[in-house]
Amino acid sequence: MQILINGQWRDKREKIEVRNPFDNSLIDTVPAGDASDVEEAAAGAIQGFKEIRSLSSLERSFILKKTAEGLEKQTEDFAVTIAKESGKTIKEARTEVNRAVQTFTIASEEAKRIGGEIIPFDAVPGGEKKFGFYLRVPVGIIAAISPFNFPLNLVAHKLAPGFAGGNSFVLKPATATPLTALKLARLLLESGLPPKALSVVTGWGGEIGDLLVQNPNIRMVTFTGSLEVGQHIMSKIGLKKATMELGSNSAVVIMADADLERASSRITVGGYTLAGQVCISVQRVFVQEPIFEKFLETLLPKVKALKVGNQLEESTEVGPMISESAAKKAAEWIEEAVSLGGKVLCGGERKFSLLQPAILVDVPFNAKVHTEEAFAPLIVANRFRTLEEGMKFVNQAKYGLQAGVFTKDISTAIEAFRKIDVGGVMINEIPTYRADNMPYGGVKSSGLGREGVRFALEEMTELKTVCFHLE
Ligand code: NAP
Repeated sequence: MQILINGQWRDKREKIEVRNPFDNSLIDTVPAGDASDVEEAAAGAIQGFKEIRSLSSLERSFILKKTAEGLEKQTEDFAVTIAKESGKTIKEARTEVNRAVQTFTIASEEAKRIGGEIIPFDAVPGGEKKFGFYLRVPVGIIAAISPFNFPLNLVAHKLAPGFAGGNSFVLKPATATPLTALKLARLLLESGLPPKALSVVTGWGGEIGDLLVQNPNIRMVTFTGSLEVGQHIMSKIGLKKATMELGSNSAVVIMADADLERASSRITVGGYTLAGQVCISVQRVFVQEPIFEKFLETLLPKVKALKVGNQLEESTEVGPMISESAAKKAAEWIEEAVSLGGKVLCGGERKFSLLQPAILVDVPFNAKVHTEEAFAPLIVANRFRTLEEGMKFVNQAKYGLQAGVFTKDISTAIEAFRKIDVGGVMINEIPTYRADNMPYGGVKSSGLGREGVRFALEEMTELKTVCFHLE
């Protein structure tokens, strides 16, 4: 595929190969963007911004609605591309397309609701003769940098609210999964997006990332990816606005009164969907002592039954990890957990990029599977005595994106909501649950700001005030 700069599709001599993580077969190539592409894209985005901000809300809403309709019509085509380049199963890929249809639809609705508020100037001394209001205005040109694991919907969560608010973009998709983003760009242009409002520069983040985020035309950076890269970007961007959607090692608390059947079924989804490569994957499971063994007995057969393999086969439930090196790293972390005294109940065997879904138990808290984000099809289960202790274990993480709590007791649920340090607490649900219209984002090292269309729109707009002096 070609790179998109200021409405023009271009080829380049230097290419990046996009490979299927299951068998390493070549899917396509994309141009390796360089400094000149970034500069040209960021310069063209000035005109793109002028054009998109001058559209009416209704016109912007219409472009987003048309994009949603186009995605819906091309569900299978997008799903196959997503599955091939990211390794997620074809069923997971279809779900992602359906979610992106929702994301664009919600954004088309939100585009019509961007307003302001009258300011009661006369409520403070000296304001008796003043009248005015504030409005939300676009921030301007936004650099969007996206990860490999949701190549469509996480790009949608940046572009859709951003365009709704009247911004222009330079997008840098993950190098492992650029094809879906380029297809989406084509669809946006076909749906009437002003051509210079979006450039998609493919290329290595380590090479062009700094140039992009430091470009003086860029007013805001919206980044989804790892903590390390997020911190690096924050150290480079000075006074630019930023939202950072980073990683996590999300926890679940299972109280003794929980519905174990539901908890184990949901953890079988949350721990292993996308081969565990979701920022809100279930990683740490804390089970109240009296039901520890019983919970594992309920969970184990479900996890063992998961069918691992080629992501394009309809029956596959867990596909490959994004690369052999990612799977190797996860297998090494399992070895480390065992060397520290933990036990493997099932899984952990690796074949190229496939890792068998693993359950680890009684792993000491200093092991990497506790302290870091595993981003792999594994969970680690430990016991706790009281709710207080369970919450302490959850909160000892440096991350804080979402958490799940299984209990039938309302006061336990409320206590957990109040005291667990995360962006969202899911009661009788896994942390992996996300609706595309809810505020979504983390505390601590999980990031800054919120996505979820309306909330991203707020991040991507600024308040502008007008005050009239009345005689
Ligand atoms: P990553 O390695 O941090 O890469 C994310 C993006 O950053 C890619 O486009 C990458 O480009 C780019 N990048 C790399 N170095 C850069 C630099 N120096 N400057 C600017 N950009 C740079 O993350 P990933 O492996 O793709 O995704 C997995 C991570 O994303 C996990 O930590 C996961 O938890 C997190 N995530 C968070 C959320 C959330 O909403 N909180 C959602 C999904 C994923 P290249 O591909 O060219 O390296």
